[in-house]
Parts: sequence; C-alpha cells; structure tokens
Amino acid sequence: ARALDSTAIRADFPILQQTVHGQPLVYLDSGATSQKPQAVLDAEIDFLTRANSAVHRGAHTLAGEATELFEGARATVSGFLGARPEQLVWTSGATFALNLVAYAIGNATLGRGAPTSTRFALAPGDELVVTESEHHANLIPWQELAARTGAVVKHIPVRVDGTIDMDAAASVIGERTRVVAFTHVSNVLGIVNPVAEIAALAKSVGALTVLDACQSVPHLPFDFDALGVDLAAFSGHKMLGPYGIGGLLGRSEVLDALPPFLTGGSMVTTVTLDEAGFLPAPQKFEAGTQPVSQAIGLAAAARYLDAHGMDAVHARERVIERRLIEGLREVEGVRILGDAVGVDRVGLAAFDVDGVHAHDVGQFLDDRGVAVRVGHHCAKPLHARFGLTASVRASSSVFTTDDDVDVFLDALSGVRPFFGVTGVTGAGA
Ligand code: PMP
Repeated sequence: ARALDSTAIRADFPILQQTVHGQPLVYLDSGATSQKPQAVLDAEIDFLTRANSAVHRGAHTLAGEATELFEGARATVSGFLGARPEQLVWTSGATFALNLVAYAIGNATLGRGAPTSTRFALAPGDELVVTESEHHANLIPWQELAARTGAVVKHIPVRVDGTIDMDAAASVIGERTRVVAFTHVSNVLGIVNPVAEIAALAKSVGALTVLDACQSVPHLPFDFDALGVDLAAFSGHKMLGPYGIGGLLGRSEVLDALPPFLTGGSMVTTVTLDEAGFLPAPQKFEAGTQPVSQAIGLAAAARYLDAHGMDAVHARERVIERRLIEGLREVEGVRILGDAVGVDRVGLAAFDVDGVHAHDVGQFLDDRGVAVRVGHHCAKPLHARFGLTASVRASSSVFTTDDDVDVFLDALSGVRPFFGVTGVTGAGA
C-alpha cells in the first residue's frame, strides 16, 4: 500500500486550517472525538439538501432514495468492518451499543423477547468479566446488569506496563463466566489487546464476548469476522464520522437469539393491543426513527479511510505512535500510563507530569495551540490503579503530522520549567 501523506490528508479537514491563541491548531484529541473531512460534511449536507426523508415504509420517491442511501451506508460500513449488512445494528454510539447488549441480556433473564432468548438468561452468582482498563461505558452497564439480576462483576487486572495480565485472565474466566466484555484498545493505554487469546478463554467456558472497538476501528484494519468475538461496539465520531451514530456488530446467531432492548415502531411484525412480534436483526434492535444523515456521513468516513487503506493507516499509526512514545519518554518528569515496550499500539498515550496537575498541563498546551485531553478519560478505576485521579492524553488520527507531535513535545518540555518544578518531586499530579 502507498504510505499515508498526513500533510495532504490534513488539508481535507477544514477545521484544522485555523489558529488557536495565534498558533496553528495542533489537534491531539482524536481519542475523544476525531475531526471530520470535507467528504463527510458534504455527504450529510448533500443528503439533507437533496434526499432527506424517513426511511423504509414510505411510498414516495424521496423515501425510496433515502432508504437506498441508508441501507447502502449499512452495507458500506459493515463491509469496512469485516461484517455483513445484517450484522450491523445502528446505534447512537458505543455507549448505546454496550447498554443495548447489557439490557438485552437483562431482558433475556426476565424471559422477555424472542423465544430463544433464555440462552442468555443469567442466574444469581453468574459472572460478568471485564478488564481493569475499561471505559466507564463498558463497565457501568455490567454493574447495573449485575445489580438487576444477581450476577457479579469480576475483573481482569492490568499490569503496571499497561498490558492485560493473561495469567490472571485465565483464572478469572471460569465456569460461571457468562460474559467477557473487554476493550480492543484502551482509551488511556493505547495498547492493542490480545483479542483472540481472550476470546478463546471466553469461548472455552461458553461465555459471550463483547468487544469495545471504539479506539481500534479508526486506527487499524478491523475484521469483525476474523476477530472471533460475538459482539463489537464502535463509535462513528471517533472514526472521522458524525456524532450520534455508531454501531453494534454481532454474529448472526447471537443477534438472532438476543431479545430487543428498545421497542416501538419499525421493529415489529405483528402488533395487537396485547403483544407484538419482532423483525429479525438488525431491525429488531432499531426501534424508532434512525439517524439517517449520520449513517450516510459515516459511510463517507468509511469510504475516506478505505480509499487510503487501513493497512496504510495502521503503518502510519505506528510511525506516529513511536514518535509520540519515544518523545514522551525523553521529557523529564513525564510518566506514561502503560509504558510497555514491544507491543502493538495506536497513536494514543496518557501520561502524568510530576509536580504539575493535568489541568495545568492542558491549559499550558492550549495556550500554545495544542489540544490534548485532561482528566480521568472516563476510566476512573484504571487511574486509581496507577495512583492517579487525572492524566493528560495525546491522541492522533490520520491527519496528525510529525510536526504536530514535535510541536506538542516541544511545548510539553516547557511545562515543568514554567511551573518551577525541577527534579523528581514524587508529588504526582
Ligand atoms: N469506549 C471507549 C474505549 C471510548 O474511548 C469511548 C469514548 N470515549 C466510549 C467507549 C464511548 O463512546 P461514545 O461516547 O461514542 O458512546
């Protein structure tokens, strides 16, 4: 594949052509939300100006066109992710997708939904396993499901270098494990987790596997079918797409057997005043009016990434990731959260600056035109594991140039001198 030209790609993103505090914008917050290329903005505007209409059921011309574009978007995005169209359920994002699974299992436990739904019913004492590095979106839904059903949440610890403790995983995942929910790439650690190994452990005990693919999908070739998990959640706005759209990918027999979460219009076969029958997946999970323009925008994002090639994106990612990690290691007083060597990573790193609070670091960088994330990044348990309440996170995308990283590192090296901190205070931040 051709090497990615990030400088040329940067030109496709109108928002990046501005200055912040008189400095060219260096946007290193794609882990929170990526910027969107003109092609994505155009796709949404074009749909809304030309073909906007409610999908399915409509007898008029625009409804037909909108339906074709909407289902075409499903085909494009599912294909981009290594799945078939009927294996992609549109959701508002990853948070919704993960909650959908947890609530569907809750409904199965209550005996609601499709006739086969008892397959996922939980008994008190059944175990839901997560890792210590989960985003709150892949932790709290399981805590809530446990509280509703009498199941218990167990966790797989993360080593201090940021890698998952696979020995511990092998002992935590056991006979009572019903669900193993884990992240492909943590939004704090940036390390690519061994999906196949964890999925194999889960499979050996017959547990359902749920992958949080939010931070992997934008950065590496993602082949749902090959990963060996049952379900995977992703988010459009982190992969150059619009807000309000994301999805749940699922193996067909799992989606077929899971009962619906939300119910209402557009997901039913027969309805009487007493009961309803449900359409097959994915419609079974898509009650109500769908995010149509957003799906079409997301398809444009998938096409944009596909045109560059995800192998090329991943290769470029490795270059940026090394520049970032190696650069951070050189800055005095900086501690990377999860500093494992020789692991596959995406261009994302969270770090602590000894003696300076993360928020002060963020402010200092912003004054120099550099946008980073500060706080706990919705991963409080992981921060607690590192003895922190907050960190600073820099994260890249296809539009991130070498220069962006260098400007960031240069600015970062000025933080401690600016705040009058030298040596090692051990004070943390
Ligand atoms: N999981 C991870 C790893 C994330 O980084 C995020 C977004 N910060 C989410 C889940 C939630 O995604 P969304 O807010 O798009 O629903």
